[in-house]
Amino acid sequence: MQNNNQNIKSEVRKTKEAILNQNAKVIWFTGLSGAGKTTISVLLEQKLLKQGFICNVIDGDIIRHKLNKDLGFSENDRLENIRRIAEISKMFLETGVITINAFVSPTEKIRNVAKEIIGENDFLEIFINSSIEVCENRDVKGLYKKAREGKISDFTGITSPYENPKNPFLEVRTDILSIEQSVEIIIKNILPLIKKD
Ligand code: ADP
Repeated sequence: MQNNNQNIKSEVRKTKEAILNQNAKVIWFTGLSGAGKTTISVLLEQKLLKQGFICNVIDGDIIRHKLNKDLGFSENDRLENIRRIAEISKMFLETGVITINAFVSPTEKIRNVAKEIIGENDFLEIFINSSIEVCENRDVKGLYKKAREGKISDFTGITSPYENPKNPFLEVRTDILSIEQSVEIIIKNILPLIKKD
């Protein structure tokens, strides 16, 4: 049966979490392209798996090229993109799986859509914060160059806004910290929440 109160776990979810010996959460990374969301997600997943936690990364590029290939980058399409991802995250959550999401999710409105669907208690918003200058210098996928040349429209940070989260669960400065340090801080903060007592 569907549980309408987002802050009360369904019995079936509790049973699944007990079998997996963990509390499920959605770890929602937000930040500019090149800030480090994907890199951190992959390493975080590896480390959590090593500690016996069942988790799953939902990566933006896979979603964009497959599930949501019908969507573009207009405000409405960005909202729809996140809405679908949040619904999928919710399914993982209900299965007891820790879900790691690596999406730019640039605006408060977009992140609120995700938070509403997932439920405030289970939505751990982590701001992967790196200055636009550092992200542009890294230019991992060459997207900033293309955006500057006008070859990509609505590019976050250049021609489309990024609103810093006002009250994230955690902020990680990836322009100051190493990848390892960033992941360690995240693990330290989420461990008390995902560990069964
Ligand atoms: P995003 O998924 O946010 O677009 P990526 O993970 O694809 O970003 O790219 C981030 C790049 O920044 C990678 O090349 C990574 O090696 C580098 N990097 C440098 N320092 C960090 C850090 N502390 N955390 C994450 N990535 C970092």
